[in-house]
Amino acid sequence: MSSGNLKQHIGHQIIAMMDRLGVSPLTRNYHLFYMCISNTDQRLRGAVRALGNAPSQADLDEVIEKFVPEALGSNYMRRQQDDVLRNLEGVLSKLNVDQIEAASFTGAVNKVSETLANQPDPQKVTPETLVKVAEALVEAGRRKVVAGNKTISHVESHVEELGKLRNEIERLRMIANTDELTRLANRRSFDETLASIYSNEKRNSFGLVMLDIDHFKSINDTHGHAGGDEVLRVVAACLRECMRGDAVVARTGGEEFAVIIKRTNIEEMRKAAERIRAAVENLNIINRRPNGAPGKVTVSVGASMADGADTPKALYEMADSALYCSKASGRNRVTLAGELGTQSTERFLMYKR
Ligand code: GH3
Ligand code: MG
Ligand code: MG
Repeated sequence: MSSGNLKQHIGHQIIAMMDRLGVSPLTRNYHLFYMCISNTDQRLRGAVRALGNAPSQADLDEVIEKFVPEALGSNYMRRQQDDVLRNLEGVLSKLNVDQIEAASFTGAVNKVSETLANQPDPQKVTPETLVKVAEALVEAGRRKVVAGNKTISHVESHVEELGKLRNEIERLRMIANTDELTRLANRRSFDETLASIYSNEKRNSFGLVMLDIDHFKSINDTHGHAGGDEVLRVVAACLRECMRGDAVVARTGGEEFAVIIKRTNIEEMRKAAERIRAAVENLNIINRRPNGAPGKVTVSVGASMADGADTPKALYEMADSALYCSKASGRNRVTLAGELGTQSTERFLMYKR
């Protein structure tokens, strides 16, 4: 069976299964059953099996939320963030009450010192007044101790809750910044990092390398979407391996990646870009997963130092033009933005058309 037929076959299998079980043809349900059929996760298969016939959408959503939360889209993330914020607001409002109680102590002490200061002749303060002052301070102090104890017990009872919230916030932050398939930084987090590097580093000290897998569509066509996904994962791991630890490696689009290289110059950046190109060319993907992806892939690479670009967007465009110049001039090669001449720009335009 050709892989095209195989893909069609999986599509039919999914729809037939959903039909048989009486599952509504919603995208997220399709996603779940796609994962169930194509994935080897036994827990996911078990959870779907346990739903039985005609499962309710609420039960389906529970399984989706657990195993393929990305299928629920940004609404799910927003709900989770709202939950975290609501919890946080609850904790803060309790602590706020404690703070108000503690502030009343300061108020009482101020009142006492005001009373004393307003005595026309401090020498004539009577013992009765001093006793009253002492009593007022003792009472205020007692209230302060009670409030302080309350605060301590509130804080103690919320330490665990706050720890959980912190972990949850960290988990959401990771999900929001990570590309699900390759575990690299995603476009959103890449944009943020590039903007922050622009504000903190000298422009002549860093550069951007962009790369795009060559003829990726035909890899998908020949080896199926799962084969294509495997190539993306392997290329991503290869990028991570052949770059220094301080390089920011991201998946910025379907089969497009970007690397921010810090503490570099044009020659070092050219070497890094060439190292990436050669490392991908030398990958033998077929050895890693015998029945999945193809043996060879190549990437076209474009690179630019930041000193010629006023903004992150301009840098991105310069590296992107260099990348497409590599595409237009035969693929599996590196082009530096500074090397773009009129001729290559013309070729780039031809390619874009
Ligand atoms: P070129 O050498 O000019 O870059 O050709 P190409 O085929 O690589 O480029 P094109 O833009 O024509 O096709 C890119 C393909 O990447 C099309 C799209 O279906 C596929 N793609 C995008 N995201 C994913 C993904 O997450 N997984 C898989 N398997 N394929 C993806
Ligand atoms: Mg592309
Ligand atoms: Mg491509």
